[in-house]
Amino acid sequence: MSNVMIELRDTSKRYGKLLANDRLNLSILRGELMTLLGPSGCGKTTALRCITGQVTPDEGQVLIDDIDVTNLPTHKRELGMVFQNFALFPHMTVYQNVEFPLMIRNEPQAESRERVMETLRLIRMESYEKHYPRQLSGGQQQRVGLARALVYRPKVLLLDEPLSNLDAKLREEMRFEIKDLVRRLGITAVYVTHDQAEALAMSDRVAVMNAGRIEQIGTPDEIYECPHSRFVADFIGLSNFLRGKVVSSSGEQATVEIDGRLLIVPAAGAAQVGQDWLVFVRPNDIELLPVTGEPIENELDGTVSKLTYLGDRIDYRVALGSALELRVQTDGKVRFAAGEQVRVRLPPASCRPVTE
Ligand code: ATP
Repeated sequence: MSNVMIELRDTSKRYGKLLANDRLNLSILRGELMTLLGPSGCGKTTALRCITGQVTPDEGQVLIDDIDVTNLPTHKRELGMVFQNFALFPHMTVYQNVEFPLMIRNEPQAESRERVMETLRLIRMESYEKHYPRQLSGGQQQRVGLARALVYRPKVLLLDEPLSNLDAKLREEMRFEIKDLVRRLGITAVYVTHDQAEALAMSDRVAVMNAGRIEQIGTPDEIYECPHSRFVADFIGLSNFLRGKVVSSSGEQATVEIDGRLLIVPAAGAAQVGQDWLVFVRPNDIELLPVTGEPIENELDGTVSKLTYLGDRIDYRVALGSALELRVQTDGKVRFAAGEQVRVRLPPASCRPVTE
C-alpha cells in the first residue's frame, strides 16, 4: 500500500476546442486535505469530476487507493461528496437524509441507526434528527450534507465549493469545523474553492490552477511565501511586482536595478547579469519609515499618494517617482499622511524573483 490515496497521471480533458484540464499530475496523500484553488473556469471542477468519475479524461489515468479507476463508474469508487447547494432531499428528515446512502447499500437496520446517530453526533446535529432541511439554517444544512457524505465511511471526501452559499462569518466557522472533522476521521479530502483565504486556512497542501494547468503545488505557507509565478503570487494575497535588470550577482544575492534604484534580492545562485527580473514583495512585508538621513540598502524614498484605513491595518500607496507605486500595509502604530515624504524599506529576505 503506497502513501498516495489519489493520483492524477497526465490527465487532460477537452470540451470542443477548450482544453479544460491540461496534463494534470497530482498525488494526494492518505489523510491529506488537498485544495484545488484557482479562478472561475480554470478547470478545478473538471479535475474533481475526473476523480469522482462524472467526467472521463480524454487522456491520462486516475488512481484511487492504488487502483486504476479511470473507467470505473462513480458509484463503484467509494466516495463521499459535498456540494455547494447542499443537495439534501427536502421531503426527508435529517435522519432520513443521512441514512439514505446506507439504505441504498442495504445496510442492516440496527447497524444503520447506530451509524447515523454516531455521524450526527460527530457534526453536533443529533437533536435535529426529526427536522426537515427547510427548518435548518444554511450552516446546519451543510453539516447534514457532510454527515450524509461521511456516514458510510468513504475512502475519500470530495467537497466542491461547499461553503460558498453561506454568509462570511459562518463560512469562516465552517472552515475550521470541516478541517477538524477531516483530521479526526483521518480521511483523505479534496476541496475545490476559488477563495484563497479558505484554501490557506484549511489545507495541508494547495494545488493552484490557472487556465487548465496546475501552476504550483505546496503547503499554504510555501505558496504564500514562495510563489513560483506572478499568477500564484497575485492570486494568493496582495503583491507588488517590480520589473528590473540584474546588474550584479554574488551567487546568494543579486542586485537588481529598478527604475534607476538598486534592490538586493536573494538569488540562490540563479542570477545572471543582464537578465530581466520580476521581483515580488508583499505589502505587509514592507516597512514604512520617516525620512531621516540618507537611505541605506533596500531603502527607497517616496511620497504617500493615498491611504485607506482598514481597521486592523492601514493601506498606503507610495509613489516612487512617476512610474512606480508600491502598496504598503502597516499596523498603523506610526501613521503618515497623504502627500508626506516617506522611506520604504524592502527587507531583502521578503523580495523574491518570480516568473511571468
Ligand atoms: P468555477 O469555479 O466557475 O466552477 P472551475 O475552475 O471549476 O470554474 P470548470 O468547471 O472545470 O472550471 O470549467 C473549466 C472550463 O471548461 C470552463 O471554461 C467551462 O466553461 C468549461 N466546461 C466545463 N464543463 C463543460 C461542459 N460540460 N461542456 C463544455 N464546457 C465545459
